[in-house]
Amino acid sequence: MSVLLGCIADDSTGATDLANTLVKQGMRTVQLIGVPDSARPPDSDAVVVALKTRTCSPAEAVARSRAALSWLKRAGSRQFFFKYCSTFDSTAQGNIGPVAEALMADLGGGVTIACPAFPTNGRTVYNGYLFVGEVLLSESPMRHHPLTPMTDANLVRVLQAQSAGAVGLVPRPVVARGAEAVVTALAVQADGGHYCAVVDAIDDGDLLTIGEACRDLTLVTGGSGVATGLPENFRRRRLLREQAATPLPTARGAAAVLSGSCSAATLEQVRRMGEQTPAFMIDPLVLAARPDIVDAAIAWARPRLAGGPLLIYASAPPEQVARVQAELGRERAGALVERAIAAIARELVGAGVRRLVVAGGETAGAVLAALGVRGLRIGPEIDPGVPWTESIGEPPLALALKSGNFGGPDFFAKALRMLP
Ligand code: ADP
Repeated sequence: MSVLLGCIADDSTGATDLANTLVKQGMRTVQLIGVPDSARPPDSDAVVVALKTRTCSPAEAVARSRAALSWLKRAGSRQFFFKYCSTFDSTAQGNIGPVAEALMADLGGGVTIACPAFPTNGRTVYNGYLFVGEVLLSESPMRHHPLTPMTDANLVRVLQAQSAGAVGLVPRPVVARGAEAVVTALAVQADGGHYCAVVDAIDDGDLLTIGEACRDLTLVTGGSGVATGLPENFRRRRLLREQAATPLPTARGAAAVLSGSCSAATLEQVRRMGEQTPAFMIDPLVLAARPDIVDAAIAWARPRLAGGPLLIYASAPPEQVARVQAELGRERAGALVERAIAAIARELVGAGVRRLVVAGGETAGAVLAALGVRGLRIGPEIDPGVPWTESIGEPPLALALKSGNFGGPDFFAKALRMLP
């Protein structure tokens, strides 16, 4: 069976967020890390290609997104989704507008929507203005973002400045009238020469209405929220099997938790796990002087693997991180720890580990690269936003990749308990 929904995400944690949303709505979903070399699509209802195109040049973002689109077209996708952040993270030049326009041109024109709303997380759009909680985007901390400072909350204006074609608006009163009213409004936008309309949404009901109204659009653009309503369109057309239970990863073998995240939630999770399981701490200052600490970690882990899950971590509270960074520099410290944890992950898999929980977004990226993982089958959710996944390829690995502040205090034990 071919892919129903082909998605392109402008960063990897955003890709996982979208994949997790689609799985919760009953679509079997695979996340691919970059555009695959292989022509064979995975057996899946939805595919999310994770790119890293949020802050590169528009030309580069367009080229990579078009390559992803053409792969997803070959995979037979019936509809396409371009995923970006719910705070519309973009530079002055793009890349949301340039990518959306290029994808629309490749798909033969027409109209698309832009809807980053994610009411559960406080992102709502009203009269085209994006709110973060109670304040406008331009008054939120996003105005100080180091790479994508957002200083204008009017998305029609922001997107228009990044686009050659015209951008319109479908306001909330239309959305409140239901899906057919939105379909009509989008047709009017198309007749008026708009290539894209920002669509207001202030609650989850609006997202479902918009999702239904997008049933015949070739391309939908937005945050993961607006994707909530898309699977139902396929189900109504009997293209999607009845919501099957999302299977857990089947990989069997020893288990380990690797943590390179120093976020508050992770620190507590590491503390709790350390009370229950053998733990090995990596001190970046020792690592800088003696890289053989990686061998020491493996030598420590090997004889213990049969006895239950192990914890290996570099996570440290802010004052300790500050001391390390003062001595080694922020980037060098980060890179040293990431490389060490990635090398440890590779050795552990060599020693028979098949279940890995990794804490830290950058850390998880380094681990995936070291393990050569190019694709993930998305499984059931452990805690909001963090699903179990299974790597595609040999050997299959059960992977839970947790970004810093996600997960409850007993996340690690909870994740491992879920596996049979
Ligand atoms: P998060 O998702 O919590 O932001 P990341 O893995 O993305 O976690 O980022 C954490 C960064 O901190 C990584 O680059 C990691 O290598 C680095 N790091 C981890 N432990 C330490 C430490 N003890 N001192 C300094 N840097 C550290």
